[in-house]
Amino acid sequence: MAACSNAIKYAKAYEDFDINGLYPNFEDNTQKFYLTENYWQSKVKGHLSQDKHKKRDTTNNVQDSDFDYFKQLFKVSNCSICGCKFTFDNKPILDRIDNSKGHSKDNVLPCCLYCNCFCSDKDKSIGKLFIQLRKYCMIRCLPTNLTDIDVYHLIRKWITGGLSNVMHRVNRSGIDFIKRLWYDKDNKKVTVLTTDHRITHVVGVDFNSLYPSVMSSEQHKFIKYTGGKMYMCGSQTGKIMGDDDHSKQIILRIINSNKRFTQEGTLFIAEVKGHIDQNYLNDFINFPPILRNYEFTTDERTIG
Ligand SMILES: [Zn+2]
Repeated sequence: MAACSNAIKYAKAYEDFDINGLYPNFEDNTQKFYLTENYWQSKVKGHLSQDKHKKRDTTNNVQDSDFDYFKQLFKVSNCSICGCKFTFDNKPILDRIDNSKGHSKDNVLPCCLYCNCFCSDKDKSIGKLFIQLRKYCMIRCLPTNLTDIDVYHLIRKWITGGLSNVMHRVNRSGIDFIKRLWYDKDNKKVTVLTTDHRITHVVGVDFNSLYPSVMSSEQHKFIKYTGGKMYMCGSQTGKIMGDDDHSKQIILRIINSNKRFTQEGTLFIAEVKGHIDQNYLNDFINFPPILRNYEFTTDERTIG
């Protein structure tokens, strides 16, 4: 069922994808790009040595004196591959139309550094399809492949053999009593204690909600975070390694961000190593999702 609904969801999610659509880099708030003479001169030098190195004909290569022409060109044009605007975070570079020729004025079009590197020697149309799909995914919060091996292992490690903890217990509202786990330090055993309180409601704890998140992005008031919508995991925007003060500051900024519970909030996965001294185990034991490698017997004699 999950596989079917997933296929339907993706067909719907990509329904209005257009390879020529404009999918801007929404995180880029920097100023619109303008060409400076220094920047242009370093580019001219770079292109010349690059072409010479690859033994391309450089007789018609762009020159320092083409500055005005390119200043104007960058001002009025967008990326020739993805259509994005040029900013100081997304500076234009010259993409060669015919890869066998050098950087001559009639063989170059402005494009983003990312688009140029990604397409390098690929077929331009296929390169463009991948770039446009990636941007579409970013904007629509659709999943993309993980390209970072550390992040892949971090996520995989905590998904397989994960935290699912099914309680084999009958809980009838108004009839059964609430039970608690209790760690007996002396005998190193966990036992179940029956409290004096009767069950009135059953509340589930589901940290990852795999099925609902596959099936639903519908707005619902029960979903208190991220603007009432449960999004699929989108793409990785960064990773923070290490536990020094600098890393802690970055992590705290994410946790305390005002945008955290809005549509612009960033979700994060944190790997935390913890140790609970056995004197304090009973403070945590009734919250099973935080405990791993937890062994208990579920035969009829034990659980009734
Ligand atoms: Zn581009």
